Amino acid sequence: MKAAVCHEFGAPLSIEDIPEPAPGPGQVLVSLAACAICHSDVMFMDGAWGGCLPAVYGHEAAGYISAVGPGVGRYEPGDAVLVTLLRSCGSCGSCLTASPGTCEDPYDRYLDSPLRTHDDRIIEHGLSTGAFAEMALVHSSQIYPLPDEMAIEVACLLSCGVITGFGAVANGRTGPGSTVAVFGAGGVGLNSIQGAAICGATTIVAVDIDRDKLETAIGFGATHAVLVGEATHKEIRSITGGRGVESAFVTVGAISAYQQAKKCVAPRGELVAVGMPPVEATATWVPMSLAFFGQSIRGSKMGETVLARDIPALIGLYRQGRLKLDELVSNCYPLEQINEAVAEVRSGNVLRNVITFMPRHK
Ligand SMILES: [Zn+2]
Ligand SMILES: [Zn+2]
Repeated sequence: MKAAVCHEFGAPLSIEDIPEPAPGPGQVLVSLAACAICHSDVMFMDGAWGGCLPAVYGHEAAGYISAVGPGVGRYEPGDAVLVTLLRSCGSCGSCLTASPGTCEDPYDRYLDSPLRTHDDRIIEHGLSTGAFAEMALVHSSQIYPLPDEMAIEVACLLSCGVITGFGAVANGRTGPGSTVAVFGAGGVGLNSIQGAAICGATTIVAVDIDRDKLETAIGFGATHAVLVGEATHKEIRSITGGRGVESAFVTVGAISAYQQAKKCVAPRGELVAVGMPPVEATATWVPMSLAFFGQSIRGSKMGETVLARDIPALIGLYRQGRLKLDELVSNCYPLEQINEAVAEVRSGNVLRNVITFMPRHK
């Protein structure tokens, strides 16, 4: 894997710079209307997870079907859809056990990329999606229908941040009366918090370095807020009567959070890794404590989401007013101002900035 070396976007490529790809078998071409900027895009831009340049990132998108390739029977031009990075073959061991997020079918974002410049240079299909662009060509498993009445700049959040945070909780073991802590109250963590509230958890401790974010977390259902410090784990233990929480979700990449979270897990509890630290980062625990206290450490990739199972449920919760989505959108920007929008994301002061487009097909 070649290392990415670019630290910020140049001038955005326009549809004139990249020949419009025709959808092949199993593929769909989507005219995008909105794409939120996720922290993962920034990590890839910074080279934290490898990859090649040039690349088109962006993976938290929604738009309208423009064209469908052979073998894609379900969709028609004009259909409103989510566009996600969850690309699944439907037949590997993971896909067959309801875990398409860890699909084992290899996809090389560089060598298999459908994107080329006019002079035939390969453009990396960033996060298998390439959605900071007017059009995205993706596998049909990466899309899911949206109701026409849902605002598209809100709906796009369901493609990554919401399902990752919410699903880590809702598709795990949290239920009525559970005790949880969520490290990080940003775009993913707030969704773990509201997921825990919807699942019936009665102690939901939000943990962050930012007081404003903790205040927002209370609005999303956190019952307690803890400012990160030396004694974070002690505070969480005291909130739970000394026992610790049954599940500690770490939704950020900071290693210190993984270390602290382990210290506040109750006997038979779990530490759930939701965030993605840089690839070379390591954390240390005392392994004996896992067996001694019967604890577990598990990872949750993209909330272990199954689009066909989870997206209708989330849309239903949103319609009922129980799932907050509108509140997660900080600002909307046109593609021409993407550098400004990314800079705000880097500052850590926004939940989700959304790039909006005038869709060609609606
Ligand atoms: Zn993401
Ligand atoms: Zn698969």
